[in-house]
Amino acid sequence: MGIDRIAVVGGGTMGNGIAHVAAQAGKHVRLIDVSEEVLERALQTIAKNLDRQVRKEIIDESARDATLGRIETVRDLASGAEGVDLVVEAVPERAELKYAIFETLDEAAAPGTILASNTSSISITEIAARTSRPDKVIGMHFMNPVPVMKLVEVIRGLATSDETTEATISLSEELGKTPVEVNDFPGFVSNRVLMPMINEAVFALMEGVAEPEAIDTVMKLGMNHPMGPLALADLIGLDTCLNILEVLHRELGDDRYRPCPLLRKYVAAGWLGRKSGRGFYHYA
Ligand code: NAD
Repeated sequence: MGIDRIAVVGGGTMGNGIAHVAAQAGKHVRLIDVSEEVLERALQTIAKNLDRQVRKEIIDESARDATLGRIETVRDLASGAEGVDLVVEAVPERAELKYAIFETLDEAAAPGTILASNTSSISITEIAARTSRPDKVIGMHFMNPVPVMKLVEVIRGLATSDETTEATISLSEELGKTPVEVNDFPGFVSNRVLMPMINEAVFALMEGVAEPEAIDTVMKLGMNHPMGPLALADLIGLDTCLNILEVLHRELGDDRYRPCPLLRKYVAAGWLGRKSGRGFYHYA
């Protein structure tokens, strides 16, 4: 099945990036958010990011204008889900919120519409079970910043059909991404592997093995990582890292995923990384 019309639920960090790449690939995009202010800011961010692509001669001005012209903004979830081929949900990482949104989407969207979630850690199988179409529910885990990062982790829930998976993989390729199919387990592949590494780096800091800059430099120069784990944690948000580690710890039931007490302490202090101006590093 061809996917031409896409709704994106949530116009925050991830949602505006997903809307950007979809519209740039020629899709008609409906960006849905409860906040008018967020929608205005999302359009400004997309315009700014497109301008940067024009300056770098990645696209020309007419492509920029056409891309913006393919994005409409909507505040009502139910009407926003009408008449689209696929919905990607990118609202905050709270299970109850996502369940409620999928219940509404299931009622409002045509029976053939694929319902995808950009969740980082919530079970796709469990989200799908809230709908009457679990075969059409799938994970589409984009990476931040979406216009730049190549990966889409495509997560199959227990009931996701081959047809839904194939359509999602084709769409990801049309958006210029490299899709990788994985099964639905806590943290999928990305966070199952990444978060224990970040957590171990925080333990190393807590135990006085080395200073943050030293830990990050070892991983950058020694392992060829583009960023050190502590700088990456600051970029992701320390609260988000803690949430994901708690999901891994709870759902896999193994103490090797227990969040480092120092990570908890930083989150309790409101030191959340770049977004709060302070995490393992200071940001102006
Ligand atoms: P965000 O807080 O930047 O944006 C979420 C948006 O959802 C907000 O604009 C909010 O107004 C909107 N929203 C809240 N309730 C809504 C509702 N009922 N209907 C419509 N819109 C609603 O969050 P984000 O960082 O973009 O994360 C979104 C999802 O993407 C999460 O599941 C997160 O785990 C996942 N994710 C985030 C990253 C990242 O680095 N930020 C990376 C990969 C995946």
